[in-house]
Amino acid sequence: MRNKTKVINIGNVKIGRGNPIAIQSMTNAKNIDDIINQINLLSDSGCEIIRCAVADFEMAQSLKIIKRNIKIPLVADIHFDYRLAIEAIKNGADKIRINPGNIGSNDRVKLILDTAKQYQIPIRIGVNAGSLEKSILKKYNGVTMQGLAQSALNFIDMFNAYDFDNIVVSVKSSSVPLSIGAYKILSENTDYPLHVGITEAGINTVKSSVGLGAILSIGIGDTIRVSLTDNPLNEVECAKEILSALELRKFGIEFISCPTCARTQIDLIKIASQVKERCKNIQKNIKVAVMGCAVNGPGEAKDAHIGIAGGKNAGFIFKDGVIIKKVREQDIVDELINQINLL
Ligand code: SF4
Repeated sequence: MRNKTKVINIGNVKIGRGNPIAIQSMTNAKNIDDIINQINLLSDSGCEIIRCAVADFEMAQSLKIIKRNIKIPLVADIHFDYRLAIEAIKNGADKIRINPGNIGSNDRVKLILDTAKQYQIPIRIGVNAGSLEKSILKKYNGVTMQGLAQSALNFIDMFNAYDFDNIVVSVKSSSVPLSIGAYKILSENTDYPLHVGITEAGINTVKSSVGLGAILSIGIGDTIRVSLTDNPLNEVECAKEILSALELRKFGIEFISCPTCARTQIDLIKIASQVKERCKNIQKNIKVAVMGCAVNGPGEAKDAHIGIAGGKNAGFIFKDGVIIKKVREQDIVDELINQINLL
C-alpha cells in the first residue's frame, strides 16, 4: 500500500497520492540541440519528467527554447546561485530542485520561493549526504539517516514558515541502508511527495534496483530516478523494470526467461535478448516466456500467455502452457513475434 502523500503538479504530470510513480531522468547533453534530441529520445522510451543542470544564465534562459521542443515537464537543477533559480523559473521551468542549504541565506531562499509561488511551480528540496549542513553533522555525529531526514524536515519547516507548500522532497545518499532509513523517517514525518533515488549508484543497476526496490516496496516514493554512470536511456529502462517487477506499473509486455542449464540445446541467451528487444515496441499487457527446454519450460512458465521452449536445434511455441507449434531454431524469434501480434 502506497503512502498517501499530497498531490503536486509538475507541468502536466501529477505526482503523489494515487498517481502513477513517475520516472525521471537527467539530460547530460551539452548544447541545446543535443539536449532537446536527448530529452525526446528519453521521453519516447518512457521518461516522464526530465531534469537539466542549470549552471549559468545562458542555460537558464535556454530553458525557454528547450521547453518549446519537448513534451515532458522540465526541472531545473540549481546549486548555489539563487539568481539562476529565479531566472530558470521565469524561463519556464516546471519545477526546480535546490538544496536550500547551499543557496547562501534564508533571504535568498525566500526570493526563490516567492518567484516559484508567483509562477505556481513546485520546488524539490534535494538533500544530499555529501552536502549536509555542519550543524546537522555535529548534532548527529556525521552523516546518518536521522540527520538526512532532519535536514529535509528543517527545510520543509522553513518553506512552510515562508508560506510555501508546493514541495517535493528527496534525501539522497550512495548508501542503500542509509537511504532506506532516511526515507522511512522522512515518510513518517511528512506527507509531501518524495522523489526517490540512490545517488552516485555506479555503472550498473544493482544499487538502484536494491535501494529503490526496498523503498518502493514499503509504499514510499512518488517519483524515481535510477542514477547510472551510463546513457540516461538505460536509467529509464531500469526504472521501468523496477516498477514492473514490483507490480506498481505496467509497461506493455512482461518478459520472463529461464537462466539456461545443461538441458538447453539452442542459443537461448541470444534468442532471449532478441525477443526482449522486439517486444519493447509492442503495447500488449501480456507475459511472454523464453525457456530453454520443453521438459520444464511450458510448465514452469504456464502463467505466460505465450512463449517458446527450446528443443534440439528447434523451438516449441506454447500458449497458456500448451505446445501449439514446432519451429526451426532460426525461425523462433520471428514466429514468436508473429504469434504475439496475433494475440
Ligand atoms: S527451463 Fe529447462 S533449460 Fe531452462 S533452466 Fe529450466 S530446465 Fe534448464
